[in-house]
Amino acid sequence: MRLLEDTRGTSLVQSCIWTLHLADATIGRINCELDGSDMTSKIRIGISACLLGREVRYDGGHKRDRFIADVLSEHAEFVPVCPEFEIGMGVPRETVRLEYHSDGVRMVAPKSGTDHTQKMRRYASKKSRDLGEEDLSGFILKKDSPSCGVFRVRLLDDEGMPSRKGRGLFAEALIERYPFLPVEEEGRLNDPHLRENFFERVFAYRRLQSMFSGRWTIGKLVAFHSREKLLLLAHDRAAYRELGRIVAQPKAIPRKELVTSYCETFMSGLTKIATTKKHRNVLDHAAGYFKKLLPEEEKAELHGVIEDFAAGLVPLIVPVTLLRHHVRRHGVNYLEGQTYLEPHPRELMLRNHV
Ligand code: SF4
Repeated sequence: MRLLEDTRGTSLVQSCIWTLHLADATIGRINCELDGSDMTSKIRIGISACLLGREVRYDGGHKRDRFIADVLSEHAEFVPVCPEFEIGMGVPRETVRLEYHSDGVRMVAPKSGTDHTQKMRRYASKKSRDLGEEDLSGFILKKDSPSCGVFRVRLLDDEGMPSRKGRGLFAEALIERYPFLPVEEEGRLNDPHLRENFFERVFAYRRLQSMFSGRWTIGKLVAFHSREKLLLLAHDRAAYRELGRIVAQPKAIPRKELVTSYCETFMSGLTKIATTKKHRNVLDHAAGYFKKLLPEEEKAELHGVIEDFAAGLVPLIVPVTLLRHHVRRHGVNYLEGQTYLEPHPRELMLRNHV
């Protein structure tokens, strides 16, 4: 399945005019059902090679990340990339930095004065285009790197003053080409909320890719949207409403525009952090389905664990597990299909923090 691509490369508005026509021919690589519910095949995640322990850093070392290499590797196939190694800078090599000049940002090796900008930009453009064939559902990049860093990379201004306004040249090309691909730095993944948010987006992106691949129908979109409702509500109520409007009048806009609008709103909505308060609203909403189904003491138990979660006494996994138990026992169809109840593999333990 081809990576969802920004085929225009300049404007966000048209960035979702994806290469859907390619999907029929390449759908075999991930065994996702079109309804997006199959989580059995491994997701594919692009990654800065040094985070996997590959000795490709300027000093011949690596930056192996334990969560990525030991835990995530059980659930994901990695596609490692090292831009500096791949443009032939060698290992070990001279360090590089980003400098702002009148003609834009340059990647320069300060000791020798070698300017790697053109080579790196050319590589980044081609590499990010080629990665479109890799079925990626997310990308994890090394923080602070002038090639891979996404946020707050050190950048010297035209007077040589440092700021934290830079972005690595490879990261920049990747994000420009695939604006909805979940991209995160390994350092930020140490924050449990950011980690959970990133992987929710990774698995949601995969479901979205799967749904819009091949000959998607309005019926499939409606069913998809229905399953994602609670997850969206936990992140961004405005996006939830806007998507509801799009799905309610699918023939009001051309299909390509509909795909653009839906994907843009869906993915940007999920970037909003699901706070305790928002989760609590969703949990209360879900508990409402059991009003007439559960005896009083079980209802009290359910509301009790939701209260405990809201008070920070137990992690989200506790009320969600109890809800799942009741959903299974009573066969509540609407809730059974909600991705909110299991948006990513439980083994990643992303909802186990308080
Ligand atoms: Fe290579 Fe990027 Fe790691 Fe630097 S940060 S060693 S360029 S993968």
